[in-house]
Amino acid sequence: MKIGFIGLGNMGAPMAANLAKAGHEVTGFDVAGATAEGVAQAASGPEAVKGAEVVITMLPNGAILRDVAAELIPAMAPGAVFLDCSTVDVESARAVAEQAEAAGLGALDAPVSGGIGGAAGGTLTFMVGGSEAAFATAKPLFDIMGQKAVHCGPSGNGQAAKICNNMILGVTMIATCEAFALADKLGLSREAMFDVVSTSSGYSWSMNAYCPAPGVGPQSPSDNGYKPGFAAELMLKDLGLSQQAAEAADADTPMGAAALALYKSFVEDEGGKGMDFSAMLPRFEKRGRG
Ligand code: NAD
Repeated sequence: MKIGFIGLGNMGAPMAANLAKAGHEVTGFDVAGATAEGVAQAASGPEAVKGAEVVITMLPNGAILRDVAAELIPAMAPGAVFLDCSTVDVESARAVAEQAEAAGLGALDAPVSGGIGGAAGGTLTFMVGGSEAAFATAKPLFDIMGQKAVHCGPSGNGQAAKICNNMILGVTMIATCEAFALADKLGLSREAMFDVVSTSSGYSWSMNAYCPAPGVGPQSPSDNGYKPGFAAELMLKDLGLSQQAAEAADADTPMGAAALALYKSFVEDEGGKGMDFSAMLPRFEKRGRG
């Protein structure tokens, strides 16, 4: 397949390289001049997407996606699919899809989970919104870049699934960390805390698979000085997107709002930037109620 790939950053470069390695003809463009292995470099976005059957974007946010889409859509071949894998707000995803479909293109929003390791290893999970036909066109590419692609319904639903999942993740990680800090103060060992909670009704992915306490449970970023992993600032971004969506949809999400406020202070004022999102545990450890 002839593929245009826009945004060759931490995630985009390995994803594009995996498509090239699988035998697809991939042409890439990144405004910062980034490149990827096996990927031809174009001088501009419109040049990269010329004649492509699928155009993939992997960009920082919704505002940039809207700008890039406005530039690319008129340059795309009729019937091609515009496939955005960035994590962006639901409204931008739906606006871009509408614009692509009005121009006779297919459109998919397909944010990922799995991080940089998943991008490099081709083991991402894709949460996909858009038509059946566009999903069928992109499916072989999802199978190369990832291990699972879930079709979640019409445009925007991929982003909706991603931000709802990550809102649960942010909230449960905070709950797990504050409970560990309380257990410390009550004289409970971390091993005992893990053994009980991981097999009781307080269990979660945060506790069982990604335990924020070093030396306890399976290997996780806490065992590596809280080096990400999944960076706190990326969690902050996703919690911001879920609150933006909740406001637009008039949904009551008090726990999501509290998680956003905590990650905001953590990243902006408490040294959390560049740390894994599970470094909430040392943050709580250092504090009392005041
Ligand atoms: P990144 O900043 O490393 O990469 C984004 C790239 O887009 C950069 O190389 C930048 O130069 C390029 N870019 C910006 N504006 C452009 C333009 N107008 N034209 C062409 N290229 C442009 O970010 P990343 O970590 O690769 O993340 C990309 C997306 O994936 C984000 O939406 C992020 O939320 C999401 N995501 C990231 C992770 C992760 O662990 N890094 C995990 C899941 C989802």
